[in-house]
Amino acid sequence: MAKKSTHKPTCSFCGRPADMSQGMIPSALGDGTYICVECISSINEMLGELPGHSHGKGDKESFAMEKIPTPKEINDFLDQYVVGQDSAKKYLSVAVYNHYKRLQQHIDDDVDIEKSNIIMVGPTGTGKTLLAKTIARLLKVPFAIVDATVLTEAGYVGEDIESLLTRLLQASDYDVESAQRGIVFIDEIDKIARKGDNPSITRDVSGEGVQQGLLKLLEGSIVSVPPQGGRKHPEQKLIEVDTKNILFICGGAFDGIERKIAHRLNTHVVGYSTDPARQKIQRDNYLQYVAPQDLKSFGLIPEIIGRLPILCHLDPLDRDALRAILTEPKNAITRQYKKLFEMDGVKLTFADDALDLIVDKAIEYKLGARGLRSIVESIMIDLMYEVPSMDIKEFTVTADYAQKQLQKAHFEDNQIK
Ligand code: ADP
Repeated sequence: MAKKSTHKPTCSFCGRPADMSQGMIPSALGDGTYICVECISSINEMLGELPGHSHGKGDKESFAMEKIPTPKEINDFLDQYVVGQDSAKKYLSVAVYNHYKRLQQHIDDDVDIEKSNIIMVGPTGTGKTLLAKTIARLLKVPFAIVDATVLTEAGYVGEDIESLLTRLLQASDYDVESAQRGIVFIDEIDKIARKGDNPSITRDVSGEGVQQGLLKLLEGSIVSVPPQGGRKHPEQKLIEVDTKNILFICGGAFDGIERKIAHRLNTHVVGYSTDPARQKIQRDNYLQYVAPQDLKSFGLIPEIIGRLPILCHLDPLDRDALRAILTEPKNAITRQYKKLFEMDGVKLTFADDALDLIVDKAIEYKLGARGLRSIVESIMIDLMYEVPSMDIKEFTVTADYAQKQLQKAHFEDNQIK
C-alpha cells in the first residue's frame, strides 16, 4: 500500500500529489508514506462527529471557548492600551465576544447567530486602528490592516479585493485554519463611499464597485486568494479561504457626517452659535447619534451597511485625553522612552510642564494623538544620540528643554497651521 518516495510525494490515503495539497506529512517510519493536510482535516472532522468522541472540530471549538474572555474582561484589556472611547469599547467587547460565541455554535442549531462585523466612525487618530489591534492582541488571532483606498485605486474587480485576505494569510504564516478565524481591519472605509446619494445620477463606479466586491467577503463566502497577493496568475496556486468566521472591523473618519446626522435630527450644526468651542461640543454630540441611515446618506450602499451591523462612534480627543495618552497606556510613548533609557542605566523623567507643552503643541498644530510621537521624537533625538556615551544616571525633560529642542529641530517652522 505504501508508495516509495522515489519522486514527488503523493498522499497514501487519497493519492493527491504534493503540488495539489496545502502540505504533506511524512510517516515517522520513513518508508516514503505520506498523508496530506486535506486528509488530516477530514479525519479530524469525522472523529469530531462520533458520539462521545472528543477529537476534531468540536474539541477545538470548546478549547477556544474556554479561552474567550468575557465582554468585561475584553473591555478591561482595552482600557490598558486605549484612553477613553468607552462607548466604542463596550460595543467592540460585546461584538467580539458574540462573534466567538457564534464560532462555538453547533451547525445543527436552529437559531443561526449572524456575523457581527463592526463599523467604527470617528475622527482620524482617535484610536480606531489601535482598538482593533488591541483586540487581535488579546485574542491572539491573526490580524491584518488593509486600507480601503488602495482597493479604490486598483479598480473594483476581483483579485484586488481578495488580496486583502492575502494579508491575513501572511499574518497567520499561511495557516488557513487560523486565518479563517482572524480579524481584518479595513481602514478608511469612508473613502469608498459613493460620491452622491443618488446612485442613478452620480454613480461613482470605482467606489461602489469596491463596495460590491467587499460584500461577498463580509457576508461569508469561499474566496480564492492569491498567496503572494497581486493579480491572479494561472501558475499561482490559489488558496481557498472561507470568510464565514473572519471578523471584519471597518473604520472611517466620515468627514462631514455630522452634518447628515444633524440634518436627520432636523437641526443645524452651526446654527445659533459661531463660537468654535461650541461648534465642537455640538459636533461631538452629533457623532454619538450616528445611525445606519447616515452611512447611507454618506454613500455606503445599504447592502454593505447591512453586513456591518455593529455601528459605534469614537469621540474626538480633548486635552485631557491627549495628556493621558502620553503617560497612561501600557505602552505610552513616554513609557517607551523611559524603557529605552533604563536599558542604558539612565532614569528618565518627564516634568509635568513638559508634558503640558507637548499636548499644547499637538493641539496648536492640530496633530492629534498621532502627532504626539513626532513631537516627543523631536525633543528626544539629541538625548538619544548622546546619552549612551554620557556618564549620567538620570535626566529630567523640562518644558524649557523641550521648547529648546523643538526650536532646534525647526519643529514649528515645519508645521502648517
Ligand atoms: P485611527 O482612528 O486613525 O485609526 P489610530 O488608532 O491609528 O487612529 O491612532 C494613531 C495613534 O494615536 C495610535 O497609534 C496611538 O498611539 C494614538 N492614539 C489614538 N487614539 C488613542 C487612544 N484613544 N488611546 C491611546 N492612544 C491613542
